[in-house]
Amino acid sequence: MNQLKTGTLYIVPTPIGNLSDITNRALKILKDVDLIAAENIRHTNILLQNFNIKNQLILMNKDNEKTQSDNLINKLKQGNKIALVSNAGTPIINDPGSILIAKCYFFHIKIIPLPGPCAAITALSASGIKNNRFCYEGFLPSKKKTRCDLLFSLKEETRTIIFYESKYRILQSIRDIIEQIDKNRHIVIAREITKKWESIYGAKAHLMLKWLQEDKNRYRGELIIIIDGFKKPQKNNLSKKVFDTFLKVKNFLSLKQSVLLTSQIHKISKNILYQQVIKNKDDKII
Ligand code: SAM
Repeated sequence: MNQLKTGTLYIVPTPIGNLSDITNRALKILKDVDLIAAENIRHTNILLQNFNIKNQLILMNKDNEKTQSDNLINKLKQGNKIALVSNAGTPIINDPGSILIAKCYFFHIKIIPLPGPCAAITALSASGIKNNRFCYEGFLPSKKKTRCDLLFSLKEETRTIIFYESKYRILQSIRDIIEQIDKNRHIVIAREITKKWESIYGAKAHLMLKWLQEDKNRYRGELIIIIDGFKKPQKNNLSKKVFDTFLKVKNFLSLKQSVLLTSQIHKISKNILYQQVIKNKDDKII
C-alpha cells in the first residue's frame, strides 16, 4: 500500500535579545524549510536579513492561529517542511502555536523541536533560587481579583514559581505578592536578559518593592518574576535519635533530669531540648 509522505513541523526558538544566541541548527532549518510561519513578519524578516537568509514567510499570530493552522496543516499534508517561530524565545511558551501542534498530532504529522532561548529558563538559571523543582505560570492575570486569587492559591506552593510580567504592572504585582503570599518571601526580578540593560536582582518582597520604587529604570523593558517556594515550618528540629534517648531516660528519671542527661549525651542545649519536649507534648507528638 502506498503511504502518503507528510511534511515536518520544526519548532525553532529565536534569540530573546542577543542575535548571537541563535543556534547553527536553527539557522540551517530556517534556510532549508519550504516556509516559515512567523508571529510577526517584519520582526522575523529582520532576523533573517541579519543572517542573509531568504525564505517565504506566512503570518501566524494569536488572532489568525485557528484558521492559519488549518492552512499550514494542508501544506504539511502535501509534504512541506515548515518552521514555526515567534517574536522571541521558544514558540508556544506564551506564544502562538499550540493549536497547530495539536492538529499535527491529530494528523500524525512529524514535529521536530529545536532547543534554544527561553526567557523563563534563562532567568531561572541565574536567579540563585533553588531550581530543581519549579512551576511556570506565564503572565500574571491583569485583573486584580484574578491575580490576587492566583497568588493566594500559590502561597504554599513549595516549588519555585516563575511569572512573565510587564513594566506597567510590575509594582502592583509585587504589592499583591506581599499581600497574598508573604512580605518576607525572597523574589528575583530578571530584566532585559541578554540585552544591554540586563539586570538580575533578588530581595525580600517588601524590599524589592522599595528598590523598584526608587528608580523607574529598574523595571524598564522585559521582566520576569521568580518567587522562592514556600518553606514548610519544621515541626521538630531535633533529631529522632535525641528524642529516642529522651524517651528511654524518661522511664527512670524526672522530666528535668531526663532533659539534662539527654542534652549531655547528645551535646545539645538543654533549653532547646526542653522547649521541644514541651512543644511536642502540647502537639501530642511525645
Ligand atoms: N516564548 C518566549 C520565551 O520563550 O521566553 C516568551 C514570550 S512572552 C510573549 C514575552 C515575555 O517573556 C515578556 O513579556 C517578558 O516577560 C519575557 N521576556 C522575553 N524576553 C525577555 C528578556 N530578554 N528579558 C526578560 N524577560 C523577557
